[in-house]
Amino acid sequence: MRVKLAAGNWKMNGTRAALAEVDTLVAEHGAASVEVLLCPPATLLGAMAERIGEAQIAVGGQTCHPEASGAHTGDISAEMLADAGATYVILGHSERRADHGESNDMVRAQARAALAAGLKCVICVGETEAERDAANTLDIISGQLAGSIPDLSTGESLVVAYEPVWAIGTGRTPTLDQIGEVHDYIRAELERRFGTGVGRSVRLLYGGSVKPSNAADIFAVSNVDGALVGGASLKAADFGGIIDAL
Ligand code: 13P
Repeated sequence: MRVKLAAGNWKMNGTRAALAEVDTLVAEHGAASVEVLLCPPATLLGAMAERIGEAQIAVGGQTCHPEASGAHTGDISAEMLADAGATYVILGHSERRADHGESNDMVRAQARAALAAGLKCVICVGETEAERDAANTLDIISGQLAGSIPDLSTGESLVVAYEPVWAIGTGRTPTLDQIGEVHDYIRAELERRFGTGVGRSVRLLYGGSVKPSNAADIFAVSNVDGALVGGASLKAADFGGIIDAL
């Protein structure tokens, strides 16, 4: 049985004042029956983990460097994320792929480093609008899965997030049938590569314009085990509504 996961990606948003939202989440969803994860900017990770304390909310990073330490100005290693209290890291988000040129090979190297540091990986895949229009969605997803996910992955350590690039921050979402088609495809690909045991235990999240009003419909789609939420994870009221819908 896969435990549902509501993951919030704060992206480059939030200063210490935003931790008040975390207090509300802890009070209202700190013992939820689903798993809750918040991925703030690295500057807030330690303070957020402390603020959450013993409540059942995990924290995670938004990327990591493939090496454990060294001369990489501005970068953060998986070990450092873990040391700050993270148990997860988002890898291969389309914004990292686009803004920082992160290739599938780079994402796979980051994921290996994250697993070595004991972090669970939320590996993101998703097509652009042009790729969907050209009917290339499943090919793109297939290549990203094959290239970005390391062989060592397990059902415990790997989460895959399907985030169509054109649905991120736009208020647009695929149809429920389109979401189901891609999630079923990802499940089949994982089962083919890792066997049914591991393939069936990896959680698959949908991401892209998830909000309280559309969450329940999306969560009812086959092979959707939760969501990776951007904008609507910044306010406890919105993210709480999504957690409740799970
Ligand atoms: P939005 O929920 O703001 O569309 O962002 C989705 C996302 O990119 C989460 O990683």
